[in-house]
Amino acid sequence: MKTILTGIRVNSEPTLGNFLGAMLPMVRLSNKYSKDYNVNIFIPDLHSIISEVDGDFKKNVLTSIKYYLAAGLKLNQNVHVYRQSFVPAHSEMCWILNCVANMGELKRMTQYKDKSDGKESVNVGIFDYPVLMAADILLYSASYVPVGEDQFQHIELTRNIAMRFNHKYGEILTVPEKTEAQVAFMGVGMGVRIRDLVNPEKKMSKSTNSLNSKIMLSDDPEKAAKKIMSATTDSLGKVSFDMFKQPGISNLLQIEALVNDFPLQDVISTWQGESHYGDLKKKVATSVSTFLTSFQENIAAISDEEVFELLESGEAYANEVADAKLLEVQKAFSLR
Ligand code: ATP
Ligand code: MG
Repeated sequence: MKTILTGIRVNSEPTLGNFLGAMLPMVRLSNKYSKDYNVNIFIPDLHSIISEVDGDFKKNVLTSIKYYLAAGLKLNQNVHVYRQSFVPAHSEMCWILNCVANMGELKRMTQYKDKSDGKESVNVGIFDYPVLMAADILLYSASYVPVGEDQFQHIELTRNIAMRFNHKYGEILTVPEKTEAQVAFMGVGMGVRIRDLVNPEKKMSKSTNSLNSKIMLSDDPEKAAKKIMSATTDSLGKVSFDMFKQPGISNLLQIEALVNDFPLQDVISTWQGESHYGDLKKKVATSVSTFLTSFQENIAAISDEEVFELLESGEAYANEVADAKLLEVQKAFSLR
């Protein structure tokens, strides 16, 4: 059985953009495929500590798992939820793969260049985390790793490390699919970019300081509705889906489709040509506040105990699979 694997960093509370662009598509993907695929959803807590972690980290980890459940993640024996640091094989595999990866290829990673740009000193984790990511993937022989475009380069790196390893030691590691094949598999919904509400030329980001620019999952639903009502649009006076000419309006159409699980095309057909932007805003504001209300009720109904039970079985599974693969790799290096 093939494996789909995903992890989302929880350094601070996600925005509606993170949720709609990364978490919700993953939940839908999992619900669609978990009959025939292993679906590994993990909390990359070791990746989190390469930068500052906001607030109560332990609590954030639990909450982020609740997000998946509240978003409708269907559990069965193929869905495995675990914390990275509770599976020590990740760290050990990372070390071994460090001895397979090259400085040159790691230095080429744009994420590293961006994150270290202009800084006098950065921690080694920022440089090395793509190798940890390769370990996260290769320990479970994952074929599909739904990630944003910003992570494509790391998937290619993982493929290169795995192929180099296999070339030397035999077919031990499963090489994940090429990014194009990954995108085709994931289908629509993955890779959407929700825009900043005040400045729709930019994407919505949790690190943006302006509170009106972003909707947080814990926002009071009425306040969130107000943010939608005051979202920047344009002066063209005619609704049309065009992310270049009308990014604000297009963003609202996109949000309306995703929070209601409507096909984007249907939403566009409904509003195309409308000249009263206020009507569209009112509809989207209602959709967002209805969505947040029920989402927050769902979260409140999930107990910590429930999450711990899920983690207990997920981590037992993960340790078994990861240890078995690690042993094969250790043997290849004559460490065992
Ligand atoms: P930061 O401002 O700190 O970079 P961010 O909001 O960009 O935060 P990330 O932690 O970089 O969030 O990304 C988490 C996940 O959310 C990634 O899978 C990323 O592709 C996705 N994502 C980020 N921003 C958006 C957005 N505006 N719309 C849809 N998906 C998004
Ligand atoms: Mg980002």
